[in-house]
Order: sequence, then C-alpha cells, then structure tokens
Amino acid sequence: MKEFAGSTGLVLNEPLLFEKGKKGRSGISLPRRDVEFSELDETLTGNGPNFPDLSEVEVVRHYTRLSTWNFGVDTGMYPLGSCTMKYNPKTNEKQAALPGFAGAHPLLPAALSQGALKVMFELERLLAEITGMDAVSLQPAAGAHGELAGMLVFHAYHKSKGSRRSKIIVPDTAHGTNPASVALCGYSPVNVKSNDRGVLSADTIAAVMDDETAGIMVTNPNTLGFFEENIREIAEIVHDKGGLVYADGANMNAMLGIVSMSEVGIDVLHLNLHKTFSTPHGGGGPGAGPICVRKHLEPYLPTPRIVDDNGEYHLSYDFPSSIGKLHAFYGNWGIIIRAYSYILSLGADLKKVSQLAVLNANYIKEKLKDTLQLAYDRPCMHECVFSDKLQAPLKITTLDMVKRLIDYGFHPPTIYFPLVVHGAIMIEPTETECKEDLDLFVEAFKEVVREAGEDPERLYKAPWRTKVRRLDETGAARNPRLTCGGGN
Ligand SMILES: *Cc1c(COP(=O)(O)O)cnc(C)c1O
Repeated sequence: MKEFAGSTGLVLNEPLLFEKGKKGRSGISLPRRDVEFSELDETLTGNGPNFPDLSEVEVVRHYTRLSTWNFGVDTGMYPLGSCTMKYNPKTNEKQAALPGFAGAHPLLPAALSQGALKVMFELERLLAEITGMDAVSLQPAAGAHGELAGMLVFHAYHKSKGSRRSKIIVPDTAHGTNPASVALCGYSPVNVKSNDRGVLSADTIAAVMDDETAGIMVTNPNTLGFFEENIREIAEIVHDKGGLVYADGANMNAMLGIVSMSEVGIDVLHLNLHKTFSTPHGGGGPGAGPICVRKHLEPYLPTPRIVDDNGEYHLSYDFPSSIGKLHAFYGNWGIIIRAYSYILSLGADLKKVSQLAVLNANYIKEKLKDTLQLAYDRPCMHECVFSDKLQAPLKITTLDMVKRLIDYGFHPPTIYFPLVVHGAIMIEPTETECKEDLDLFVEAFKEVVREAGEDPERLYKAPWRTKVRRLDETGAARNPRLTCGGGN
C-alpha cells in the first residue's frame, strides 16, 4: 500500500502500570524518617489501595506513549461529518487558562466578577450579531441541551397565548437529537420527508402544519449538507398558523456572518460553541449550546440573565416569564472564554471560516464524485454525503472502506448517517485543512476503492495497522477490555 505522511508510527507495546511496577521503586526521594512509625502508615501499606511502585520516567513514558495511540485533530485530519472537527487554535486554551479566568469563583459577588460577566455579556452580543438574532443565553451545556431550552421556550410562548399545542414538525434530514428533544419536552414529533433535492418543500410543510402544531425544528444547513432554500416560505406557513420556527444551528460553520437567521424567519436557534467556535470536543464534553432568540421570545430565556447596568454587570432573576434555570451558575465558563477568544482573534475574518469550509467540502465532493456515488449531485455547504452504491456489486460496504482509511492515517468520516442515504459517508473537512491535505485524503480514498476492486479481503479485515483490529463494536462498547496485551 502507498505510504502517507504521519500515517505510521512506532508501534509500542505497553503493559499496565500494575504489570510494570517493581516493589520499592519510587518517583520521589523523601528524607529518611526521623519520627516514630505511625498507625496511619500501617493502614496505608496494609489495607490501602495496592498501587504499583514506579519511577517518574516510567510513568511519564507510559502516559506519553498511550497519548500517541489516540487520534486527534492535532495528529491528523478528522473529517467527521456533522461534528466540525476543526483545528482549535492554542491561543484559546491559553486565554481560558489565565489565572483570573481559570480561578474565578462562581460564588463571588458581581462587584468582584466584572471581568467574567463582561466576557459573557459581550459574547452574547457577538453571537447575536453573527447569527442576526436579538438575544442570547449562554446557559445550555450542549447542542441537545439548547434544543431542549428552545422547546421549553416554544412551550412557554404558546402557554402565554393560551394556546395548547402538542406537535412539532421534524424533517427526515434533522439531527437525531431533534426528535429526542421534542419528545423530552412532551411534544410529539411529526416526521416529514425531504424532496428529491435533499431539502424541504414548502408544500410538504403546508400539508401538515395546523393549529395543534407548536412549530417546526429544522437543521439548517441540514444533515445532507444543504441549505434549506425554502426556509423563508416554510417559516411563513408555520407563522401564519401561529407556530414558531426552531433552527438547529450546530452546522453554523457553513454560514458565519453570511445568513441572518432572523431574516429567513427563524425564531429560536442554538449554536454549538464546541463545534463552530473551536473548543476541543469528541471526548464527551464539556461543551456549550447557547440559544439565540428573536425579540418577542426574549422574556422566556433561561434565568439568570446578564444585565448591563450602565457599565456595571450583574446576574438577574427578574424575568417572570422565564423558563427558569438550566445549568449551575451561568453555563460552562471555560468553553465561553474559548469561543470569545476565537471570535475576537478572527474578527471580520470569521466569514472566511465559512467560505473556506464550504469551498473545502465542495472540493472533496468534486474530486471524489467519480469514485463514490454522490447522494445528491449538487453544490453542498460545509459537508458532502456519498453512498456505497458503486461498491455494492463488490460486496464492499461503507464500513469496510472507512476502516481501511484508518490504515492510511485518516479518521473515518461519519457513516450510515443521515439515514436517508444508503450506506452514507458524510465528509466534513472543515476550513482548517489545506489543499495538500485534502488531496492526500482524496488520494487515500481512491486507493481504498481501487483495492476494493483488486483484493477485497484487504478491506474486509481492515484496519491492519492499528493496535486493535476490526472490533465487534457493540461488544466493545458493552464489555470494554481495558488491558492491551495480546493485540486484539
Ligand atoms: C452535534 C449536533 C447536535 C448535538 O449537539 P451536542 O452538543 O452533541 O448535544 C445537534 N444537531 C446537530 C446538527 C449536530 O451536528
């Protein structure tokens, strides 16, 4: 197989620290004891945890080696569709670690927290400007939490109008968290199909929107990577029947500063700071999923809210129509600083983030469209979706192809999602990949597909060059084997 830069490394076998330890070895030298032997020492050595004895360098090497077995955006391209695994500039980490920020105590009075409150207040204003919305709350801890907050806002709004509504329209191209959030809030999701262009038709919405429907929840751009081009008309249909329009803005990386969400008819939008605004993610958090609303929904935002009292900031609970508190204090502070740092360091160039993200995705789409079947052959936004149709006659699946991609040093794209595409391969390169790296990825994918025709066995059993090989993924998740001896 062809060699790719950074795709192979030293293969080290690493025993557990418990297997490595040697009685009496130590990472520190303490002066000889000059006091009586005490009971406490005996309980620690007798009944305490049986930790292994190791030297400092043994521990450092152990963890440093393990860290190199992990794939991250700092070691290679991570084209995981829908997740926006862009490179996260290190300056954001540095700002979040500033002692005044990292050590800020959430129970300090407002008078001693003016800097922190100002950062949060200003970030809300910046997010409002970027999205074209009016008011923002930074409280929700993740995208799905923002969705729940949005559904609660829908509910509070309809309640204030004395209107009882039980349904929310959710298209088949929505993210899976959307119907889940709808159901968690007590609404019933009404599933609607996208058209042959991969977007919603206004007619489809007109046919289901009624006065028992609280509104619609659209992922825009949707999970096929297309902008919902009929969104304005759809919003009008929903508004005419007294409903509200929610946009899942986790894919905002495609349209920063380009689309005003309020102008296209959106009432509530959530953002994923950990995706679009550059916080390392993928390990399960923490994240932040602020919600942005239009003026008429501002009274329902979660409390507390940050208030600017002639240059003095404080948290206020004085919002009687609010849906209430959603998170301890005011959200995930560390993520808020990273997003603020990211936005300020890019300034007006923020728009270029989206332009380049869209350009990169279209580049990959064009380069791979003779190799893989394009689900919809039309310009995409920040990600492109292929199917495994061309490989099906060879009995090669999407899973086989992306597992082999690992041998070439690339993290697999998102697969089998969205559900509307058979054997979906969803590629989101993000703006932070240069042309040379995109070319390497394209070349690797072409190589994998060529191998599929020549020697399918190589794909059935891939990956070959990793610490562990093809796993039973369900079994591996249910019964994780935490030792690495044996190589399987
Ligand atoms: C990631 C994502 C979500 C969920 O966000 P979390 O922070 O993981 O809860 C929702 N919608 C879309 C489109 C996403 O890509």
